[in-house]
Amino acid sequence: MHYLDHNASAPLRPEARLAMEETAAIAGNPSSVHAAGRAARARLEDARERVAGLIGAAPETILFTSGGTESAALAMAQAANGCTLVLTSAIEHPCVLENAKRGAIPMASLPVNADGRADLDALEVTLTDAPGPVFVALMLANNESGVVQPVDAAARLVHEHGGRIFCDAVQAAGKMPVDVEALGVDYLSLSAHKIGGPAGIGALYLRPGTPFVPLWGGGGQERRLRTGTENRIGAAGFGAAAKAAGDRLGSERARIAALRERLESRLHAIAPDLHIFGEAVERLPNTTLFAVPGRRAETLVMQFDLAGVCVSSGSACSSGKVEPSHVVAAMTDDPALARAAIRVSLGWNSSEADVDAFLSAAEHIFAGSRAGMVAEGRS
Ligand code: PLP
Repeated sequence: MHYLDHNASAPLRPEARLAMEETAAIAGNPSSVHAAGRAARARLEDARERVAGLIGAAPETILFTSGGTESAALAMAQAANGCTLVLTSAIEHPCVLENAKRGAIPMASLPVNADGRADLDALEVTLTDAPGPVFVALMLANNESGVVQPVDAAARLVHEHGGRIFCDAVQAAGKMPVDVEALGVDYLSLSAHKIGGPAGIGALYLRPGTPFVPLWGGGGQERRLRTGTENRIGAAGFGAAAKAAGDRLGSERARIAALRERLESRLHAIAPDLHIFGEAVERLPNTTLFAVPGRRAETLVMQFDLAGVCVSSGSACSSGKVEPSHVVAAMTDDPALARAAIRVSLGWNSSEADVDAFLSAAEHIFAGSRAGMVAEGRS
């Protein structure tokens, strides 16, 4: 099987597996004062340091959570604390969009251009016209297109206007440099399983001094901000994955970018009417969102699957729905392109053989576009 769906979930890195096995072998609650508790605490804090290191943050700014979804929910809930408008980019993950709706604060959507980049002029107009502070959510890199967003510039504008900004860096982390100081955001989310750690653990970065009201009470863990006995085994896996991803960022990035370059240029030759979303702007080096007009994404996913290649249509979370994803819809008005969008996402263990398998399947599937359309009953 050739797994080209790292943006849905990356395979577990060996370093993460080992760290979890070692941590699972020790008993102990990190809050206990005895030796076992202190050993558990040491591992948890080591993991926090490693996760913080991936984004240039101080360890005490990191809260462990149950994943990217919870981190976004915690961050979006902070809008209630002094903001009069919640502004989310049109391409945010559902964990941001759905949680934005849960507050009783008016909402607005920040549009993106055809390349899938947030419109900073529209941002400035909204910030200027808003009656009070605005809470903005802008992701660092989109999970479907891989398009990198102008988060640093957005953060400057938001702060000039007295607002706060949350950045979902779940897909960006480990695939491009992420530095919380350079970005200047107030809250930032991470998820372990997107970087080769286990699912079910993530982190929320809180800029020192940024308002944060916990959503529940309990035993007081995580500085009382996200209380509950810590998932130290998951955290150990997350920390190890973060360290491996950070240490190898330069070499993995270059290798994956070269694989993607070969994949895209060959795909252009196989399907001359190919459209690659966001091709002209900065994207994550591992992601290709493409469409061959006249095809149907859900059929293509099955055809690739039968050929032993795992890809997805839009994001995993929206697979199963027949309508195009909101990300694709925000980037094109052309229904033929929107219906056909397929995402290929590479990662730490992707190989030349994976790309070859994808390309030979694509050659077969796209051989004679007209024949393919007839086979799908749309002649
Ligand atoms: N944010 C983005 C951009 C994602 O791609 C995902 C997962 O698909 C999430 C958040 C949710 O993360 P988790 O699966 O850890 O809840």
